[in-house]
Amino acid sequence: MEPGALLVEDLEVVYGRSVRALRGVSLDVPGNGVVAVLGANGAGKSTLLRAVSGTLSLHRGSIAGGSIRYDGARLGGRDPAAIVRAGVVQVPEGRRVFAHLTVAENLRAGTLGRRGRTARTRAEHDRVLDLFPILAERREQRAGLLSGGEQQMLAIGRALMAAPRLLLLDEPSLGLAPRMVGRIAGVIREIAARGTAVLLVEQNAAIALDLAEKAYVLDVGEVRLAGASADLARTDEVRRLYLGEA
Ligand code: ATP
Repeated sequence: MEPGALLVEDLEVVYGRSVRALRGVSLDVPGNGVVAVLGANGAGKSTLLRAVSGTLSLHRGSIAGGSIRYDGARLGGRDPAAIVRAGVVQVPEGRRVFAHLTVAENLRAGTLGRRGRTARTRAEHDRVLDLFPILAERREQRAGLLSGGEQQMLAIGRALMAAPRLLLLDEPSLGLAPRMVGRIAGVIREIAARGTAVLLVEQNAAIALDLAEKAYVLDVGEVRLAGASADLARTDEVRRLYLGEA
């Protein structure tokens, strides 16, 4: 297994007793670059990220079969904090920031519970502000006053404070104005260029296929298509169903 690679095999996820959200899903994410997961509402995209980040139980979900391995070790069944320490960090859907805390306090929250803070934390902090100059400008402002796009940047910045080697991004473009979508895309490209692998879940197939080298299409809990983004973008199915072409 390649260092820093994520390997998901035959993953089965259920919510409660009866909702089967993922059925035999397999995918692999190399230790660098961007991999995208596309799919309509309810296809199971968020469920996949929750399974990887260990947060399924917060939604009354559980892994019913298969395996998740990261960097050679099993992730499936470990608690979220251990998974963060292993280098895998999720930015939740809906850019949840602490609205009543300042931008700076939100960023600090991204390092809580981490051992050996200080120098490394400062380095991450500087990297995040370098990546998002707007967060530096707004450092003392309450996060709830930021625009939607800025909150998304803060949510990503907070995740980066934990120094992930693999970043899990859930629909970062959701509900943002086109100009802001372009800026977020630029940031994702930059994060990957700086050496953090990205698993990107998106309904916006055009953006996702543009950013990712490789993509998977989920449909009702199953992998329906997989391959190089450029090849997928040429298939009739992706063009018709996900790129909105006639
Ligand atoms: P969306 O973009 O709408 O979030 P998605 O592709 O991320 O869609 P999931 O949210 O992973 O899809 O949902 C996959 C399936 O699991 C859906 O049928 C959904 O109704 C179901 N599901 C998701 N969360 C729960 C939950 N907490 N309890 C029960 N069923 C759930």
